[in-house]
Amino acid sequence: MNPCDKVMLYAYGELPEQERNSFRQHLEQCAQCRAELKFMQAQQAALLAPAAPAKLVDAVFAQTTRRAPAYKWLGAFKPLWGGVLTAVLAVGLFTGGWMLEHRPSYDSQEVIAYMAANLDEEYQTFASDLAQLEAEF
Ligand SMILES: [Zn+2]
Repeated sequence: MNPCDKVMLYAYGELPEQERNSFRQHLEQCAQCRAELKFMQAQQAALLAPAAPAKLVDAVFAQTTRRAPAYKWLGAFKPLWGGVLTAVLAVGLFTGGWMLEHRPSYDSQEVIAYMAANLDEEYQTFASDLAQLEAEF
């Protein structure tokens, strides 16, 4: 890699320490890299918003609606959340598995016969309800 290609990495502090040191030596000999670095640093400085005084920030927050969340104390239990979730999940899986294994077994013929009889009955009720409704109008 051409040392001149590392100027951006250097400017953003992304070079490992060893390469940083060797790039500094390169900077001393390379006017182009020095100029580029100066430009990038000026850009970075322009991008950083000037920090407002802490007192002013506090005063603004005090007069606006932002408040410390009431559920802040929940954060103290954060390390427990994972455990609770895992426990809930485990219980759910266990129960689900148990129900699958112990689900009642029906004879399909029996089920069909039951459904036929009851659906018929339900249809009869529905039909008489409908007839009654029609009679009212
Ligand atoms: Zn260079």
